[in-house]
Amino acid sequence: SVKEGPVAKWHKSVCRYCGTGCGVMLGLDKNEKLVRVRGDQEAHNKGVICIKGSLLDELMEKKEARLTTPKIRKNGKLVEASWEEAMSLVAEKFKSSIEENGPNSVAYYGSGQLYIEESYTANKLFKGGIGTNNVDGNPRLCMASAAVGYTQTFGKDEPAGCFDDIDHAETFFVIGSNAYECHPPVWERVMRRKAANPKVKIIVVDPRRTKTAQHADYYLPVVPGTDMLLLNAMAHVIINDRLYSEEYVNKYISFNDGKAEVSFEEYKAFLEDYEPEKVAAELGISAQIIREVAYYFATSKATMSLWTMGLNQRVQGVFLNNNMNSLHLLTGQINKKGATPMSMTGQSNACGGVRDTGSLSHLLPNGRLVAKAEHRAEVEKLWGIPAGKIQEKPGYNALSLFQAMNDEKVKATLVMCTNPAQSLPNVAHYLPGMEKTFMCVVDAFETETSKYADVLLPAALYIEKEGTYGQTERRYQLIQKLREPYGDSRSDLDILVDLAERLGYGDFIKSKTSKEVWDEYREFSSHSKYNFMGMTRERLAKERGLQWPCPTEDHPGTARRYIPGDPFVPEGKEVYFYGKPNGKATVFMRPYLRGNEKTDANMPTYLTTGRVVSQWHTGTMTREVAELNSQSGPGRFVMHPQDAAHYQVKEGDVIIVNSSRGEMKGTVSISENETPGVVFAAFYDPEFMINDVVSDDHDPISFQPDYKVTAINISKSLPL
Ligand code: SF4
Repeated sequence: SVKEGPVAKWHKSVCRYCGTGCGVMLGLDKNEKLVRVRGDQEAHNKGVICIKGSLLDELMEKKEARLTTPKIRKNGKLVEASWEEAMSLVAEKFKSSIEENGPNSVAYYGSGQLYIEESYTANKLFKGGIGTNNVDGNPRLCMASAAVGYTQTFGKDEPAGCFDDIDHAETFFVIGSNAYECHPPVWERVMRRKAANPKVKIIVVDPRRTKTAQHADYYLPVVPGTDMLLLNAMAHVIINDRLYSEEYVNKYISFNDGKAEVSFEEYKAFLEDYEPEKVAAELGISAQIIREVAYYFATSKATMSLWTMGLNQRVQGVFLNNNMNSLHLLTGQINKKGATPMSMTGQSNACGGVRDTGSLSHLLPNGRLVAKAEHRAEVEKLWGIPAGKIQEKPGYNALSLFQAMNDEKVKATLVMCTNPAQSLPNVAHYLPGMEKTFMCVVDAFETETSKYADVLLPAALYIEKEGTYGQTERRYQLIQKLREPYGDSRSDLDILVDLAERLGYGDFIKSKTSKEVWDEYREFSSHSKYNFMGMTRERLAKERGLQWPCPTEDHPGTARRYIPGDPFVPEGKEVYFYGKPNGKATVFMRPYLRGNEKTDANMPTYLTTGRVVSQWHTGTMTREVAELNSQSGPGRFVMHPQDAAHYQVKEGDVIIVNSSRGEMKGTVSISENETPGVVFAAFYDPEFMINDVVSDDHDPISFQPDYKVTAINISKSLPL
């Protein structure tokens, strides 16, 4: 770590990496150099941060790797250019594409790491100005299924509960989440809760015996791709053993088969196929453990579920999210302290910046949908644009956008703060489109994607610009600007405003600074139940984040929704799901459908991908930090000794992995902690391009790809 020189001043800030959104204190010396980082005791993470956050100083001082000037591709090479030259070229390419091929020939592909103000502005420019819904981004890859799941069940996106619920829960149901490595302060809080209360039970469902699973009282190593069976089997036990909440079944929920309302009896009949004894073999666990886990889930004083990409990045991601919400509704394990379904977000600002601002191709801000005429009309009125300006069809989502680039339907794309040339599944399939399309890439560092840029613009990083982040539990926090952008770099907001002016939308994008955009968007939000009108910049600078709804400046924010204290719950109601016409949340009949990726004689092993604690996503930032690199080492295939014996490989051998999508070489690492039959690989290392073999099958509703279940075969690479 940098850690030299005395701190001249400490500043409150927020870690710029993951969706935990830890409050940090940043110590700058008198030359504005970031020399110390520590967790903020006053923030929700209570001073706990992980290794990545603790080394933010090294990231910010790694200046030799930063992009400092705009570059334009000339004769196949990126060469330095002025901002004027670069922005003129971008504007000219976008204009000519729109004139010749219509607005749907251009696109924006953004990120859950941009500030709220930046995503809001990009969304407004493209959907309301240019008039295309081709606005999508990397949150499609990490949490689209959770967003659809919440919306279908409760009528509104984003969780009902909060991280404080951890301190009140008696049972933790953790599924598809390696929180120990991916959300360490959250897991530390769970462990503190367990240490304080001997009644606390931890149930972990994961095909991998992760570090999180090693803390479990009940560990369920289900076969990859089968956990819909488990959730339906738990519902079967809950209904048939009368473990459900009569209050919730009678008053607060309705049942639905996906098309229309059905009766409780019909729902019960649907679950008959999911009796634990009928599904245990396919799940790879015993019927008895399913029954015990269902019992703990339903009968504990308070049950909190935590999940992330293990459920979201799946071909049945939406159904899995529906089912998690349903288990809480059926048992009444919701709307009280310690009881809540909580989908944790991977990225720092996927919730606030992308979901809430509606910066995906099917969304409009604050929970509105492109497909709904009344929602389009509301947004058109608020933005002051003619009726009918917003197109009625959703634009391209992440995978279909890059396919449209392959097919030359999209001619010009603005990529901000993300690295699709490494993060897309089956990535090699989508690279030709990046070659063919005019791509303006905005980033702080060179990436795999910047190799395909026609214009590469240097972005200001983190505390070089001001803006707000919204993390997993609806908490918005301010990141203050503490120093000027490095070199000639500019904030993404400045770049968007510049582009808007050059395209003729300077009056429409009337808010030019971060604070102006915040105030515009705050007012916009007051016309919805995402209302955060009360979160003035001044309040956010003083307070340690506020949770919406927060409609007025004297409102304390809302930790738990749908119960009194939430400003949208009508007087006299104890529970009210106001996103639904009758105030009742929906429990869906969701059948188990097996995806295409299933092992057989040709592809006998599963590949699953994820993160490690010391690297973040494609590693564009964390790979710049020496200590993080030394912890993670290079990317590799991690497998159980039984698989190593089966394939006759040993530690350090180079193997060839084949899937239906492609093949790649990599080094073997052997670990007793892996599950036989399941190989793990992290995706942070571009020299180990695991997404070359990962399937791009996706959920048909959320369009989120399945990075968790790919059938593979392995052969040993023979020395030359
Ligand atoms: Fe940053 Fe996430 Fe680590 Fe917290 S858990 S310090 S937000 S990377």
